[in-house]
Amino acid sequence: MGLMRSVLLSASQSTWLREHAMKWPFVRRATRRFMPGESLDDALAATRELERENITTILTHLGENLTRVEEASVVAEHYLNAQERLRETGLRSEMSVKLTQLGLDQSADVAAANLERIAVSAAGIGRRVWVDMEGSAYTERTLELFRRVRARHANVGIAVQAYLRRTAGDLEPLIALGAAIRLVKGAYDEPARLAFRDRREVNESYLRLGRRMLSAEARAAGVFAAFGTHDHVLIEALATLADEAGLARGAYEFEMLYGIRRELQSRLAREGRRVRVLISYGEAWFPWYMRRLAEKPANVWFVMRNALGGG
Ligand SMILES: Cc1cc2nc3c(=O)[nH]c(=O)nc-3n(C[C@H](O)[C@H](O)[C@H](O)COP(=O)(O)OP(=O)(O)OC[C@H]3O[C@@H](n4cnc5c(N)ncnc54)[C@H](O)[C@@H]3O)c2cc1C
Repeated sequence: MGLMRSVLLSASQSTWLREHAMKWPFVRRATRRFMPGESLDDALAATRELERENITTILTHLGENLTRVEEASVVAEHYLNAQERLRETGLRSEMSVKLTQLGLDQSADVAAANLERIAVSAAGIGRRVWVDMEGSAYTERTLELFRRVRARHANVGIAVQAYLRRTAGDLEPLIALGAAIRLVKGAYDEPARLAFRDRREVNESYLRLGRRMLSAEARAAGVFAAFGTHDHVLIEALATLADEAGLARGAYEFEMLYGIRRELQSRLAREGRRVRVLISYGEAWFPWYMRRLAEKPANVWFVMRNALGGG
């Protein structure tokens, strides 16, 4: 399976595959498991379906690395337009953005200005905007820029990664600020110097940080806790903790990726818990999709079954 993971990760960087794969019908069919489609309309249609079950969504537009700062305003415009569509349709989705997509590599000021525009438009429809946490080269800059924009726009939330050793320290000022915080395990390949590499350690860290986010002190500061994980053990532990602390079920939320642990998403929603599903869409789907397969190589068999059986 180690081999499968490397094959998938190198496939994710193949330009030829990227250009050809979407034309193959079985690839199109198989991708539907994790991605309802390439367009915003596809993401909105999937949101409409999920909202029937009282699950709503977070939308993120997949992009490639930016080479010019002007490309960042095109990304920002896309999110502004998407929020306009939310206003029209009344769907309850929120947006999640990557600061590198908003121009962070080119200019922190441009990225901040783009995030502010999106935050203002989200506030106009009463929504949050989430800032994703990227690889460790960006942690400090992401936190800094978040603090800068959050000082003026309270509807901006941020993701933090439980696998990073520094996160326990980063969390405290975010709690003092009463921020909306999304806790995730972390998706990048980080060195042991910076990150816990052992699964058990990551899970322990997740639970410790999650408990802190649900603490009376965090609640008094106005923290909104979001748990971005499919790990049912952690989800059960945090849900129990929140119930025992007497928290209203809408006072925090569980977030998962579209198509993953579908039955768990539905069960939590039926229990009256707040669930959001993150939908990624966009033309730059291919590298993203290959990384999802690499995360769990068993998914490759799912794709193969689709390819052979047409299901
Ligand atoms: C809403 C949301 C936002 C995120 N934002 C960020 C971010 O800003 N920065 C960042 O670094 N990471 C982000 N992530 C990714 C996160 O860091 C993890 O890489 C990812 O969620 C997998 O970890 P897990 O917590 O689900 O636990 P794991 O221990 O990886 O998985 C637990 C169980 O979930 C199921 N599962 C997990 N992944 C898959 C999959 N691909 N296919 C099928 N089953 C699967 C499996 O049954 C697995 O046993 C986000 C994740 C979510 C859900």
